[in-house]
Amino acid sequence: MTAALIDGKLIAARLREEVARGVKARVDSGKPIPGLAAVLVGENSASQTYVRSKRKACAEVGIESFGFELPATASQLEVEELVMRLNADSRVHGILVQLPLPEGLDDERVLNAVGLEKDVDGFHPVNIGRLGMKGRAPLFVPCTPAGCMVLLEEAGAKFEGADAVVLGRSNIVGLPAALLLIGRSATVTVCHSRTRNLPEVCRQADILIAAVGRPEMVKRDWVKPGAFVIDVGINRVEDPGSKSGYRLVGDVAFDEVKEVAGAITPVPGGVGPMTIAMLLKNTLHGAELADAR
Ligand code: NAP
Repeated sequence: MTAALIDGKLIAARLREEVARGVKARVDSGKPIPGLAAVLVGENSASQTYVRSKRKACAEVGIESFGFELPATASQLEVEELVMRLNADSRVHGILVQLPLPEGLDDERVLNAVGLEKDVDGFHPVNIGRLGMKGRAPLFVPCTPAGCMVLLEEAGAKFEGADAVVLGRSNIVGLPAALLLIGRSATVTVCHSRTRNLPEVCRQADILIAAVGRPEMVKRDWVKPGAFVIDVGINRVEDPGSKSGYRLVGDVAFDEVKEVAGAITPVPGGVGPMTIAMLLKNTLHGAELADAR
């Protein structure tokens, strides 16, 4: 059996077009241009790259982006004061604080300072709490897990009553992914570094979301025939044959798992492009929330 490929690049491109149309419609009707503030503290080169690509994606759909760079020596108070200023800035409808913050800064306090209505990353504890509570809706859902759900829907997954396994329990991916699946009435098992019999647990899954950060950990015999497999992992592995000396692989051994899965995301080109597309969608939503205030 060969799995259907879930093309995140294509689905994300469609979403971005939708956002671009939404932004244009707003601007044509005289409403403010949606604005995203990107806060970068320190000089982590991966973070710089992420922020650059998020700002470029904003420009492509007509969202205005504002970059704020603070040195790694910035104090907790300075970072929180910047966030408070952005909370009060009417041009800004979404605030993104690029993680990880440099050592010594408390990311929990910084994320708590982001106004709920501008929390486009969906990391504020109140938004996460609402995601987990029956009958409550968060203002924003974290971008990566929200993107995973769109990919599953597009691939035709049925959630109600399905056995879903989420590998990983991080605040930004695993935990919210599990909450989203529960919200769609799947029966959810969350695995982590202390889980026993991991292959056996994963083999029960109709839907498997892998977010562990371990290159190609999920093997063919971990996957139920016909399962939907979403690979969130982005891992660099050495590849002397390539120009850069490395290549990117996911948490799933793609070549072997595609032989048993029903549908699978590639890495790159699966979840990655969806994360940015969902951020754009959330920023447009932030502007709509501001209209209603
Ligand atoms: P994280 O914060 O490091 O969390 C990893 C999770 O995996 C933890 O819950 C950990 O368990 C679990 N884990 C680690 N090793 C394990 C093992 N051997 N067996 C079972 N569970 C294990 O990572 P993250 O931020 O969620 O990211 C996960 C991966 O997704 C990374 O490769 C990251 O680069 C990628 N990512 C991609 C995107 C995207 O846009 N595509 C976005 C975010 C992250 P414990 O809790 O017990 O430690």
